[in-house]
Amino acid sequence: MDIRGRRQSTNIEDRRGMRPVRTGVGLSIGGLLFLGLLTLLGINPLPFLGLATKEPQVTMEQSAEPYQESAQEAEFRQVTAVVLADTEDTWTALLPKYGVQYVPPTLVLFNDVVQSACGMAESAMGPFYCPLDQKVYLDTSFFNDLRQRFGAPGDFAQAYVIAHEVGHHVQNLLGTAEQVRAAQERASRAEANALSVRMELQADCYAGVWGRNAAQSRQLLEAGDVEEGLRAATAIGDDRIQKMTQGRVVPDAFTHGSSEQRVRWFRKGLETGDPAACDTFTAQQL
Ligand SMILES: [Zn+2]
Repeated sequence: MDIRGRRQSTNIEDRRGMRPVRTGVGLSIGGLLFLGLLTLLGINPLPFLGLATKEPQVTMEQSAEPYQESAQEAEFRQVTAVVLADTEDTWTALLPKYGVQYVPPTLVLFNDVVQSACGMAESAMGPFYCPLDQKVYLDTSFFNDLRQRFGAPGDFAQAYVIAHEVGHHVQNLLGTAEQVRAAQERASRAEANALSVRMELQADCYAGVWGRNAAQSRQLLEAGDVEEGLRAATAIGDDRIQKMTQGRVVPDAFTHGSSEQRVRWFRKGLETGDPAACDTFTAQQL
């Protein structure tokens, strides 16, 4: 991408340098309730498990020193701010067609640990969107993982990740997220997972919709960018992640979709630029 001279979003909350301070020990009911709440919300509680069971009573405190970012972190922050701004332009233009006014999400930059309205989260779980406070949480060190662990370098790979999380915000604004949560409450575990996959693939498709609009309306993309995004979609499919972490693939536990599915839906958004093409809920084939 060519981000020089592009507008940078101001909807960024910089919480880097904040550290957790233990104010109590032992978990317990609160932690368990919190995990139950996540499940109800359709959020995979597993990444939160460590924190919820080990450090239930923690508050975040700003360290005395202001956060010193490295040159690379500054670059990651700038890419993030430009991509976020461009998603704002895209969705502000697209959503009125669906009778919805786009209210941009806030993106929280953090490192290591962060407190969201959905609970405490660790960087290790990757970027996420919390529907309760309508914020996207991002530790930009994930972009290093993307490049080093998952073999998906490049700023458009980063953009895909951000646009995917913004896609969840769009689902929230359109009421899709709420409908899925309600359906998941009545569903079996396998069915609830299948619904999560459809949600995730739709967010991938929305990321593609953004990419198309960014390319067409603002010429943000450069040669090779689409390939970078597709590589990232391939890299962070559940099958790949499961293989890396467990050494095997368990389709019932998929909550994001396979690499092939993620690529297919991201591409669908990229090719059409139309959110209506992202109906993963009635699609016969995912
Ligand atoms: Zn997602």
